[in-house]
Amino acid sequence: MAKQYDVVVLGAGPGGYVAAIRAAQLGLKTAIVEKQWWGGVCLAVGCIPSKALLHNAYLAHLLTHRAAEFGFHVEGLRADYAVAFQRSRMVAEGRMKGVNFLMRKNQIDQYEGWGVFDGPHALNVELNAGGSERLEAANVIIATGASARLLPGTKVGRRVITYLEQILSEHVPRDIIIIGAGAIGVEFAYVLNAYGANVTLLEYEPRIVPLEDEEVSKELDRQYRKLGITVITSARVRTVEENEEEAVVIYEQDGKEHRLTAEYALQAVGWAPREDTYGLASTGVQLTPKGWIQVDGRMATTVPGVYAIGDATGLVQLAHVASAQGILAAEAIAGRPTRALDYLMMPRCTYCHPQIASFGYTEKQAREAGFEVKVARFPWVANGKANGLGETAGFLKLVTEAKYGEILGAHLIGPDVTELLPELTLAQQYEMTAAEIGHNVHAHPTLSEALMDLAHLAEGMSINL
Ligand code: NAD
Repeated sequence: MAKQYDVVVLGAGPGGYVAAIRAAQLGLKTAIVEKQWWGGVCLAVGCIPSKALLHNAYLAHLLTHRAAEFGFHVEGLRADYAVAFQRSRMVAEGRMKGVNFLMRKNQIDQYEGWGVFDGPHALNVELNAGGSERLEAANVIIATGASARLLPGTKVGRRVITYLEQILSEHVPRDIIIIGAGAIGVEFAYVLNAYGANVTLLEYEPRIVPLEDEEVSKELDRQYRKLGITVITSARVRTVEENEEEAVVIYEQDGKEHRLTAEYALQAVGWAPREDTYGLASTGVQLTPKGWIQVDGRMATTVPGVYAIGDATGLVQLAHVASAQGILAAEAIAGRPTRALDYLMMPRCTYCHPQIASFGYTEKQAREAGFEVKVARFPWVANGKANGLGETAGFLKLVTEAKYGEILGAHLIGPDVTELLPELTLAQQYEMTAAEIGHNVHAHPTLSEALMDLAHLAEGMSINL
């Protein structure tokens, strides 16, 4: 006999598990179905373990290249990546168990297995423990994520890999070609470089992290070359193949063909819609021309009672956006008033080194959108705390509208800048101006006071510059 629910969520990533919690909090009888990764790619093999590896990489970099600067005399240093890897797995597994705990705490029924839709309001779950369950629900939330996109005509093999094979490996390649200098590409480039791999970063666009403000790309490019990473831009990869010993990458640049070989080639060229092995077609939801699930501002699909959130929608594919969409979908189902997300203003964080954090319009986009633009730029070298940390590379950049001071976007590159966005995004959301940020007293010495300096600068009355 089928089990009846108000809401069934398919997929327990940062979108799905958050949606389930909010649905349960709003009094809806809720179930969640997940095959393997409680917390999704993010907790299991993405954001969380990579942050553990990135921190290890930072320490490895400090000890290898900057020990003397801090007065450490390290002889015979051996950086053991296998330990870094094991630590990353421990961190990920702890977080995943945390999701199971949260489900129990909120009285959400957990089904561990593979769910397949049988029409828009029913799911058959092949349980990992054996047997199956049929779940029926007035509302379903599809939170099935996405898959790593592979370049046409290529496949994953022994030498050609994606983020997944690398993050689950305790091996540091002798040399590696990373295809794509988006978030995954630049984060892995830093980790593997710090542990001694010879890294080549190949990017199709004329600059690395091409979605960021141009000045941010330029700064990261400079820092990565200093680390010894080979950066090749305006390079269109045509084929990625492998033989017993190596991966072979052919790319085109300035109309000429080039050939590179390395122990591994890692494809990091974006996400693709997940293959429909979960009965999506039977729900009848409409897809976008690129194959993502079409949703409105309440995360509702074209079929009543069917919602979709997270990477599966192809909107801004970031964990925190998925979580926000999950809350939105649950509140919409519960009949609460909702407010659509403003995707342009979502915070974006890349954990390369130096870190990048941004939201809103880049300077170029703001000009193209017709705003009269004012730009303030504050270098980390003028911030006391950053000097104390020995991390003075990079800057903060604020893009405002010239006449009324409306915040249009911010682009930060430097120490722990991923922690600095909320003040700015909150200010933007509640229509504060740079003047109001400047009047908000910031503790000294902090990295966050650079935001106050940036705001003063935007007001044309800089204190520390
Ligand atoms: P991405 O879209 O961020 O970057 C892919 C890059 O590959 C782009 O710069 C693109 O120009 C380049 N590219 C595409 N085709 C190419 C070709 N033929 N030759 C050379 N370069 C080519 O995708 P990603 O880095 O694979 O990450 C996947 C998703 O995961 C993204 O949505 C990303 O935002 C997300 N993610 C986010 C974080 C974070 O927020 N810190 C970390 C990891 C992943």
